[in-house]
Amino acid sequence: MRAINRAAVLNTIRRNGGISRTEVARSTGLSPATVTAITAELIKDGLIFEKASGNSRGGRRPILLALNPHGGYVVGIKLTEEHVFGALTDLEATVLAKKTGRLDNQRLDTAIDAIVAVVSSLVAKTGIARGQLLGVGVGLAGIVDAREGTLRHSPIFGWRDVPLVGLLLSHLHVPVYIDNDVNTLTLTEQLFGVGRGIESFLTLTIGRGVGMGIVVNGQLYPGRHGGAGEIGHMVIDPDGPLCECGHRGCLETYVSDPHLLRMAHEAFESGDLPADVTEVEQLLELAGAGNAVALAIYAQAGETLGRTIANLINTLNPMEIIISGEGMRAADFLVEPLRATVDRHVMAGLSGDTEIRIDIMSDDAWARGAASLVLQELFKTPLYRSELVPTLSTLD
Ligand SMILES: [Zn+2]
Repeated sequence: MRAINRAAVLNTIRRNGGISRTEVARSTGLSPATVTAITAELIKDGLIFEKASGNSRGGRRPILLALNPHGGYVVGIKLTEEHVFGALTDLEATVLAKKTGRLDNQRLDTAIDAIVAVVSSLVAKTGIARGQLLGVGVGLAGIVDAREGTLRHSPIFGWRDVPLVGLLLSHLHVPVYIDNDVNTLTLTEQLFGVGRGIESFLTLTIGRGVGMGIVVNGQLYPGRHGGAGEIGHMVIDPDGPLCECGHRGCLETYVSDPHLLRMAHEAFESGDLPADVTEVEQLLELAGAGNAVALAIYAQAGETLGRTIANLINTLNPMEIIISGEGMRAADFLVEPLRATVDRHVMAGLSGDTEIRIDIMSDDAWARGAASLVLQELFKTPLYRSELVPTLSTLD
């Protein structure tokens, strides 16, 4: 309970940037005495500090509390089939150092060793004390049970039921959190990005695959064991192209980078494209130069995505849908057909409810997302806070 109150106070201070103790008490529902005790502890731990006073309306100017971004540090790791991308960030998820490790094979012990090496290297590079490292977050594709700390299934590595948190803990000796990589990106949007303060939103990522993070009532929705959001495998056409998952005609087989390249290759074989395209950059270049076939490939992908998004709006009526991922490098060619298709298929009563936002993410977005896994724990406010807090304050 003490930890919950502490997190609630810390999160209120983080969200407001500069806030007086009186306002913290009002906003959390905690008693002024409790707030004074908790803030004293947070100042002692270096997590917050007293900054220049705010506006006065006569009388004494209130002292404002703010988050100390250098009160601690976290490492975020994005694990892909060939690389370990790591970033060390402060408490505001500002990246202070980056490091990339290579995986020579897809074995579990190789990946664990590579993650541990990247974390050590980042700590050494920034010169922070080991005790200032508050935790390590790891994001990766696949079905992750974040609560259990288990990777249930990774299609990329072929691993099943790996106790990844336990394995990393025994090497790193700091708190470790894991989640599906799209969920980590969704968390960053919620904590620091355009999802801040938004009750219900979806993050869609397009690139090597297609994923989705779901925020409902301010909480990430994991499903029963972390499997929610596998929208890349929504069936578009049961007789469509073969998907990595073993089924046919999944959404991914119409919009993911490997399948856009497959379509480009088919267009080359039938003589419609002048060159055999093997890299996404080449396809982007052709589209940028106005090649009609390349543009049609992207337009078709945009329309398929648009229909999916219309289905999502009709099903969930979210406040926002954020579209992100490496695939959004093609935003210039995808977004127009996408928006037109959404408009065509959203129910009349729902159109205008959902804002669609395109987020061309930076290179370190995935690693920052994984870092947010740790930051989230630090700032976590309990479920049903409005019910809990009055009970707690009466206990004081
Ligand atoms: Zn599939």
